[in-house]
Amino acid sequence: NGTGDEEVFDISDLPFLPFPRSNMLMVIPLTSECRVIYNMENMIGRGHYGTVYKGHLEFNDKDQPREQVAIKMLNTMQVSTDFHREIGIMRTLSHPNIVKFKYWAEKSHCIIMEYLQSGSFDIYLRFTAPNLNNPRLVGFALDIANGMKYLSDMGLIHRDLAARNILVDHNGDGDCVKISDFGLAQFANSDGYYFAKSKRDIPIKWYSPEAISTCRFSSYSDVWSYGVTLFEMFSRGEEPNLVPIQTSQEDFLNRLQSGERLNRPANCPDFIYDLMQLCWHATPRSRPNFATIVDIITKEIA
Ligand code: ADP
Ligand code: MG
Repeated sequence: NGTGDEEVFDISDLPFLPFPRSNMLMVIPLTSECRVIYNMENMIGRGHYGTVYKGHLEFNDKDQPREQVAIKMLNTMQVSTDFHREIGIMRTLSHPNIVKFKYWAEKSHCIIMEYLQSGSFDIYLRFTAPNLNNPRLVGFALDIANGMKYLSDMGLIHRDLAARNILVDHNGDGDCVKISDFGLAQFANSDGYYFAKSKRDIPIKWYSPEAISTCRFSSYSDVWSYGVTLFEMFSRGEEPNLVPIQTSQEDFLNRLQSGERLNRPANCPDFIYDLMQLCWHATPRSRPNFATIVDIITKEIA
């Protein structure tokens, strides 16, 4: 950072990403006014579709302070329609419980968003703050429900709601959580559905029976995933396993269809486990929608 001995790469000129070495600063031009700069060693996360680095925005105007950002580089295998869809969705969103989009860089296939220093919620639950008390978890459950209500009001189906895709915002006046990772998100058709074409790499443990069996997604399948996310939260980051040993997709679906559900986490408040059960109703339209979930939680904490 300004020591003068870094190698600087303008990544829009590179045909492929080099192997990370220290002192390698990557520069991505964004506008005529600003660029994003990051060190390849500052990787903060890796998911199925992308690798995320911590970096900062630098402005021509030297009076404008540096701003920390997260840079999501989509894996090169990813087709560019997916990249454009993710950008197209993220840039239309504006809500306190949705991660803020800032810029994108076409050629380098990356998305620049606000950096949330407390990282992803799954790690936070397991390692950073496993002793979170129930009232704080209930507050986070309300944050997620509010963010999801906003998405469903926009006609958007997230399709990958899980603690790993929630980010924790640690700021002066208390923490809150934000929904991120719109890599699988899709707009619903006029009937409220999205029918997926491929079954590759699906997060099956978070998926509703109708999503697994017929690839049919709706806000109600997001509600199912919300219930699984509640399970992750109140078990302080436990894997949502129906059975101790991983079984086949077919066996998993059979178990769900015969009514098997995740167990109640120890010390989980009654109303939260009741809410999980409602989210896991076999009939999608019998599950509460996110507006109802917001009401249920709000009434409980009033
Ligand atoms: P993928 O689509 O590959 O799953 P994600 O968008 O979920 O990618 O990002 C992968 C991981 O990177 C997250 O689980 C989280 O740990 C980290 N991450 C993503 N965005 C941010 C951010 N804005 N601030 C901090 N960490 C982030
Ligand atoms: Mg992810």
